[in-house]
Formats: sequence, C-alpha cells, structure tokens
Amino acid sequence: MSTVERQLEDLKAQIAGEVPDDISISDVKYEGPELVVYTRDPKKFAQNGDLVRRLASKLRKRITVRPDPDTLSHPERAREEIMDVIPEEAGVTDLDFHADTGEVIIEAGKPGMVIGRHGSTLREITQRVGWTPEVVRTPPIESSTVSNVRNFLKQEREERRDILERVGRQIHRREMADEQWVRITTLGCCREVGRAAFVLSTAETRILIDCGDKPGAEGEVPYLQVPEALGAGANNIDAVVLTHAHLDHSALIPLLFKYGYDGPIYTTEPTRDLMGLLTLDYLDVAAKEGRTPPYESSMVREAIKHTITLEYGDVTDIAPDVKLTLHNAGHILGSSIAHFHIGDGLYNVAFSGDIHYDDTRLFNGAVNEFPRVETLVMESTYGGRNDYQTDQEDSERNLLEIINDTHDKGGKVVIPAFAVGRSQEIMLVLEEAMRSGKIPRMPVHLDGMIWEATAIHTTYPEYLRDDLRDRIFHEDENPFLAEEFNHIDAGEDERQEVADGDPAIILSTSGMVTGGPIMSWLRHLGSDPESTLVFVGYQAQGTLGRRIQNGWDEIPMNDRGNGRGGRGNTLSLKMDVETVDGFSGHADRQGLENFVKTMNPRPEKVLCVHGDERSVQDLSSALYHDYNMRTFAPKNLETFRFK
Ligand SMILES: [Zn+2]
Repeated sequence: MSTVERQLEDLKAQIAGEVPDDISISDVKYEGPELVVYTRDPKKFAQNGDLVRRLASKLRKRITVRPDPDTLSHPERAREEIMDVIPEEAGVTDLDFHADTGEVIIEAGKPGMVIGRHGSTLREITQRVGWTPEVVRTPPIESSTVSNVRNFLKQEREERRDILERVGRQIHRREMADEQWVRITTLGCCREVGRAAFVLSTAETRILIDCGDKPGAEGEVPYLQVPEALGAGANNIDAVVLTHAHLDHSALIPLLFKYGYDGPIYTTEPTRDLMGLLTLDYLDVAAKEGRTPPYESSMVREAIKHTITLEYGDVTDIAPDVKLTLHNAGHILGSSIAHFHIGDGLYNVAFSGDIHYDDTRLFNGAVNEFPRVETLVMESTYGGRNDYQTDQEDSERNLLEIINDTHDKGGKVVIPAFAVGRSQEIMLVLEEAMRSGKIPRMPVHLDGMIWEATAIHTTYPEYLRDDLRDRIFHEDENPFLAEEFNHIDAGEDERQEVADGDPAIILSTSGMVTGGPIMSWLRHLGSDPESTLVFVGYQAQGTLGRRIQNGWDEIPMNDRGNGRGGRGNTLSLKMDVETVDGFSGHADRQGLENFVKTMNPRPEKVLCVHGDERSVQDLSSALYHDYNMRTFAPKNLETFRFK
C-alpha cells in the first residue's frame, strides 16, 4: 500500500469515528486539494448541518461530501423535487446531473437563492434527493467564453477527474526532504515590465508564479529553461499559480503544456475564463500579423483543463509543505495577491501580482492584511519618484468635459481601451454621468472584445466592489445593461452607420492602437475635425498610440491594419487628440507606498519587481529609507535564499 493509500485509510477511519453511527462512509478520495467523502447516507449527512465544517476543521482539509452512486434517486424525479425546493425567483436555467459523482450542477440567475442562508437550501436539496448540488451563475449578459469553458469542462469531466486525483496524491504525498529552506528565483519582469515569472522553491517543492510574455518584444520570454524551472524537466515544477489574466502574466502558461508540464494551475474562476479569452486572442493576433504562434489553441484547452479555481481567502494545500491563499489585488477582474505559507510556520511569502491599492469604481482596493508575511515580492510599475497620478475624480471630470465639448460640436468621441478592466471602468463612469445628467444621453458603442469581457465581469459579481455587486444582483440596476450600451457585432457596415450618424461615444480595442477595430474607427473618423480621440490608458513606447499622443498626424494604414507601416495608404489625422490620465489599474507611487506602509504585518524584506530600471530603484530605496526594511531591486535570473 502506498503512503497516500495508507493516509486515506487512516482518514476514512478517523471520519467514521467522528460521524454518528448511522452514517456510513463508503470511500474517501483526494480530488486536487479537496478530500471527497462518499457516503451511502447523504441525506443524514445533510441533516447534521454542522458536520462537514466540524470535520474540515478537525482534519484541517477542505471536505466535500458526495453520495455513493448507487444510492442516487432517478434524475427526473430528483429534478422535480429540486425545482420544488428552490424558490422560483432564483431563475434556474439548467440542471445537469452527473451520476458518476452524484453531483447536480444548478445554473441560476440568482445563485444566492439556490444556496439559501448559510447553505440551508443546498442542504435541503440533499436531504430530499441525495444528490450533491453545486451552483453556478447564469451570466446576465450572454458570454461565449463562459459557456465555452463550462461546456468544455463538462465534456472533459472524466479526464479532469483523473487529473485531480493525480494532483491530490501529489499534494498529499509524504515529505521526503529532511532539510528546510526557501528560495525565490527571478525568471523575468525584473527591471522591466513584461514576462512575469518566478520560481518559489523549497527542499520539497517548486512552484512557478505567472508566465507572461513581453508586449512588443517578440521572442523575449521568461528564462524558463534554467534548472530551477523547466531545465530539469517539465514536471520539475509541482504547481503553477497565476495572479491575473493580463498577457504579461498569463500568455505563456499554455506553452508549459506544450513543453510537457502536466500539473495544476491555481487561480480564480474569472482569471481562468479571462485567460482563455485573452490567450486565444493572442494566438489570433499572432496569426493575423503573420507570426508563428508559440503554441496551438489546443494548449489553451489543456491549461483550462488543468486549472483548479480558488476563491479569495481559501487556504489551500498545494504541496506537502506549501499552503496557498489568494487575496483580492484590486487590479482587474479576479486579480490576486498570492500568499504562500511554507512548512509548519517556517516562512511566508506574498507575491503582489499587479495591484491597485485604493478602491476604484470596479474593485475594492488590494488586501494588505495577512496572518504572517516575511517577504513581499512587489510590482513597481509606477514606483518612480514622480509617478503620481491624477486622482480619479479629476480624471473623470476631464473626460466628461471632453465628451460635452465634442457632443456640442456634433462629433464623436473615440476611446481606445483594453477589453479587460479600463473599458468597464469607463462604462461605469459614462453610465453614471448620463443617469445624473452630467453628459447628454447618447449611444455608447463597444467594439472588439469589450462586450465579451463585460459579460464575464457580470458573471462574477462577487469579485467586484461591494456596491457594484449589489447593483448587478438587482437586474434593473445592473449598470452594464444600460440601454445606451451597444455591442458592435455587425462589422464594417455598422461602423459606417455609426460614423455617419449622430454624436456618440465609441470604446474600442486595441488599447494602444496596435491593431484591431480601433484602426477601422480611425479610418472612419480620423479625418473628422469635429470628433475627438481620447487616450485613457498607458501608451507604451513604439506603439501607434504613443506616436499619435506625441503629435503624429500622418498614420500609415497597411492591409494588416496594425499601423506599423508597410504598403498601404496614409491617413491624415484631423480629429482632436486628448489624453486623460488617472484611469490606471495600477497603484501609483503613493498607492504602492501606502500598500507597504499600512501592510499588516509589515514584511521584513521587499523585492521590487515589474517596473523599469528607474522605477524599481526609486521604490526600493524609498521603502528602505522610509520604513527601514531590507529592500532589493533584483535582476532577472537572481536567486534569493530566505531561510
Ligand atoms: Zn496586469
């Protein structure tokens, strides 16, 4: 018998000893980080409301109870009873029975009403039918990404269960190492922005945190081939943790599977979906620009199949000696700070990912309270001494003024924006401004992936700021459903119609004018002196967006439509060009300092990463002088030993 088998036998005996005599335990299995308990008496289990929680705290494991498959009532009968228990207002759209695990997946517009107070409705369902209910939200705006991911995972259920069982055994294997140490190796995004990747290693375990590309620098990928990472074999890595879906953190995660990696990816549910959306688009863009994509779309599916989603605050075993907890980072939907607890109280490290410290319209500010943290690895995008941003209120006022002026002239406002994050923020500003009469009501056209990304946001309101979440729960108050918003889905004809029509606002990708439908808006409206182009996000060096900001008014339009020149015609830009700062998803210098200053507990050491040379140096020396901490501005390929 292997050690894991013996461990499971022990757990089974322990659980049998804890539960009342009339509840049988037929099997105990690991599924990823969870311990699944099979019983022939699911109804009695559910009657003991507190039992699962008691077991979980006693065994210090996440526990799921499932019915023994041959005790299940017939799905058709169960369906009737379940619909009888759930209040009609919950808006159930689908029930999906899985006899192999005894689970019934309930898709509903209002999951809270299916769950009930402290899970009371869920327990009632199990008491009545024996099945284990699991609830997912019906997206209020239809999202092809969400439904594709859900359908795909349904299709791959069996293989996924094998993966989870294998991962579970890995996590709960007996520790082999007798030494204890903790190291971090930097594989990218040090003294630069882009290609985020780190390895956190102990004598027992190696964890890869993020795996991104470098925008605008083809081929500059993280140093994945060093011995600490894949150099010692694809399965030298035990687990991958993804902080958020932006491509400079996620683009090369699917590549790991092409290299033979076969382990888990831990992240939040919205990050999984956004990663799917953004990496598939990444492949698409590469193909359109005539580049060879680094991997095929089947690798994106592998990544999704291997993803284990966690909620903020869940403390999860991901290796025999490592517990992971994700916390809200306030940066984009599902973005997390990854906190690692190593050994039994040996050491604690937090990786900030990208953070926004203050609340925004979309998100609560980043969490900076932890049980313990000795080392913080922190982003420094705006860590430079002068990197202060206009505050949000002023930025919004500036934007609304530009919109009013343009409207008065009878023109259109064109805003290039990233699909994820800034677009939704601007949508909220516009919705409120129209509702309160600060700007006239007019259509807001959303082009590119913006509509799809918005639909994903409304699928996961739990991840949004409290008051926004409450509004989304009340259908008639969901700001993203305001009637002014129009999804451009009929291509060039619709754009022409909008361009010829009345004053309007257009939000379109790409955010740095490097291709996508924004090129087409420039063709339609670029020569209209009445209209205005407004930049609301950072324009990187070398992008067309940056050139236009710098005053270029002859725009090369090639057939690839990415504004990079080549054969084609030139467009004379006659529209006004404005820039409104302050809508960033990143903390500015003040925000970064505040994050550290109010952090509880304050870390002993800080590694300043994810910023250009000057930003990381400035931030590192400021934190050292002001708060007397040991700070570092590492280069790529450095290794730090902490214990
Ligand atoms: Zn980011």
